[in-house]
Amino acid sequence: MSITPVPRIAVVVVAAGSGTRLAAGMPKAFVGIDEHTMLRHALTGVLAAPQAQVVIVAPAGREGDALTDALAAAGERRDLVSVVTGGESRQASVAAGLEALWGDVEIVLVHDAARALTPSAVFERVIAAIDEGHPGAIPVLPVTDTIKRVEGALIVAAVDRSELSAAQTPQGFRREVLERAHGEHDPAGPDVTDDAGLVERLGVTVVVVPGHEDAFKVTRPLDLLLAETVLARREAAGAQ
Ligand code: C5P
Repeated sequence: MSITPVPRIAVVVVAAGSGTRLAAGMPKAFVGIDEHTMLRHALTGVLAAPQAQVVIVAPAGREGDALTDALAAAGERRDLVSVVTGGESRQASVAAGLEALWGDVEIVLVHDAARALTPSAVFERVIAAIDEGHPGAIPVLPVTDTIKRVEGALIVAAVDRSELSAAQTPQGFRREVLERAHGEHDPAGPDVTDDAGLVERLGVTVVVVPGHEDAFKVTRPLDLLLAETVLARREAAGAQ
């Protein structure tokens, strides 16, 4: 018998990417930062946030490994976690996660396992924005690089970086909005790299909340070194 009340929030943690750019010889979510995998760290952040159903979307064949990480991170909250198999694209993986939502869930956050060190405060900010009545909310950071629009070897336009923001996850939505966005998306159409991109196509307004520099996406080998450093810094701060 379950002792955990059914939550109104769910977090879909997409972890089914291949990690080609990280070139670690295994799916990215299972690469270790310290003695724990990226997925395990991501789940620790997710489970520190307000109580939610947690659906982990794993690469085919790695569902058992994902469940091992999930149960270790969940502890007594093991009833809240489940694992499903991902798809070829990020959108397909999110759609697989949506299929596993419980009936009472009203708010869905989609989170990249690759943003393994995202603080729980970011989850709380996104949930607060949805609770204020916005149908969608995503964390962003200002863009620090100077950005150029180029065609081949030519710069064709200046881009004013003060108008730009870098999108992070978790991205939160009213459940019905996210389900409609995925239902109406044509998988054969252009690749949309985040969920807000799909929701915006419905004409639904998505608001932004402050992101966090620790919520960077581990993509290339250098990002892994940064993640190690952030963890070491946190450990040193905790030991003080
Ligand atoms: O490839 P990228 O790093 O942008 O992927 C972002 C997130 O989406 C990662 O956490 C990755 O595991 C996930 N993903 C997925 N299924 C795919 C591709 C990416 O779950 N087919």
